Amino acid sequence: MNISDEMLEKIVKQVVMDNVQNGSTGCTSGSAACAGGELGVFDSMDDAIKAAEKAQAEYLFCPMQDRQRYVQTIRDAVTDETALNIISVMGVEETGMGNVHDKLIKNRAAAENSPGIEDLPTEALSGDKGLTITEYCAFGVIGSITPATNPSETIICNSIGMLAAGNSVVFSPHPRAKQLTKWLVQLLNKKLIEAGAPANLITTVSAPSVERTNEMMNHPKVRMIVATGGPGIVKLALSSGKKAIGAGAGNPPAVVDETADIKKAAIDIVSGCSFDNNLPCIAEKEVVAVDCIADDLIRHMTENGAFLIRDRDTIENLWKLTSNEKGGPKTDFVGKSALYILDRMGIKAPAETKVILMEADKDHPFVRVEMMMPILPVVRAKNVDEAIELAKVFENGNRHTSMMHSKNVEKLTKMAKLMETTIFVKNAPSYAGIGVGGEGTTTFTIAGPTGEGITSARSFCRKRRCVMSDQLHIR
Ligand code: NAD
Repeated sequence: MNISDEMLEKIVKQVVMDNVQNGSTGCTSGSAACAGGELGVFDSMDDAIKAAEKAQAEYLFCPMQDRQRYVQTIRDAVTDETALNIISVMGVEETGMGNVHDKLIKNRAAAENSPGIEDLPTEALSGDKGLTITEYCAFGVIGSITPATNPSETIICNSIGMLAAGNSVVFSPHPRAKQLTKWLVQLLNKKLIEAGAPANLITTVSAPSVERTNEMMNHPKVRMIVATGGPGIVKLALSSGKKAIGAGAGNPPAVVDETADIKKAAIDIVSGCSFDNNLPCIAEKEVVAVDCIADDLIRHMTENGAFLIRDRDTIENLWKLTSNEKGGPKTDFVGKSALYILDRMGIKAPAETKVILMEADKDHPFVRVEMMMPILPVVRAKNVDEAIELAKVFENGNRHTSMMHSKNVEKLTKMAKLMETTIFVKNAPSYAGIGVGGEGTTTFTIAGPTGEGITSARSFCRKRRCVMSDQLHIR
């Protein structure tokens, strides 16, 4: 980060903290629209859902052109420089995770690159018996559960997709992102109302909690649940008895074989692993390197932002520091920078350090557990086939994301087939898989367990058929 970025961050931090302390949430202080629980934020979950239901009933009759305009309104509201800075700083300040530089990239990508109504093609079938069309139609009120790790990013991409599809949405966020969610929901409602949309197309509660999320999942007016988070919440959503989209945990491996451009692979892996301090579910969590290039790869990584720990005791102390009694990640260290973690170990590392690197045994918990920290174990394999097999084991059946650095098309194809991951990235950092430096749309709700994959407007739709018998076939 250069000086001006730092200064900008300092100023915005102050603005954000003033906003939070004054209870202001993005709308002009004292304006009528901000008064008591308005602009989409409600004290009770029941009220938030009922308001979203009322809004959706009205929204159903808005022309598609208006829907497209409202989607554009969301894009414009978020990409406004002040708003973008506020949500990015607030995301880091409130959750204590990630970094502002990458939050800016993620929030912008979600706003600019999540598909709108163009994602909803009409299928038509005509013949002697008439004309039949199938359209992507709204579910109604969607309950969207959002994670602490991508708090605003998920709200942005889901709001765009869900509203484009004609739904309204109630967000039940992680309590660690309560202020940010309130601020963003109020901003979006304010802008949507100004653009002529029904009030409360996007709602949330003032004090989110696990109990309120459960209340939302069980509420009869909520027609679809979209759960973005760890395995616990995905399982709960899938047990709700409603249509549910589950976007769950990952533990993405990156395989590097002897045909790869080793220096580029090293740079890409460090870049993907350190993106937002390793918070994204798609980010590189371990590397499997073919033995004959492993030393070269490690050297290039250390020359490009990785800090190598060789000493076994230091690695074990790092595990003790960053893990909890259940063998999972310690919350205080999730989404923290490599420098922060090393500092807590009493290790002084160069300022440009982005990733903590080590060689590890294939059964080491750093390899097997989704830590969401820029800590990167490298496991050696005797050849590319063994590397692919190990990657499959490390991915742990999540079928989420995997990467391969290779020029061998046959092995790239083999790995892509065997891994069965929703996202498979070749010769690039993981984030290329969500449209950042790679072709394709962006989402922060990647639905492996339920199969929608890179979710977009059509994922939040019911397909409905409309039939005209005998007529309107004009050939
Ligand atoms: P989390 O599972 O702790 O929380 C996610 C959401 O579920 C939060 O809103 C939380 O309040 C709620 N929740 C959790 N347990 C609940 C329960 N028992 N009852 C009701 N609500 C509950 O996850 P997190 O720490 O916020 O996010 C990190 C996890 O999410 C990682 O495992 C990561 O891989 C995953 N994730 C997946 C995707 C994806 O698109 N597949 C995207 C982001 C994060």
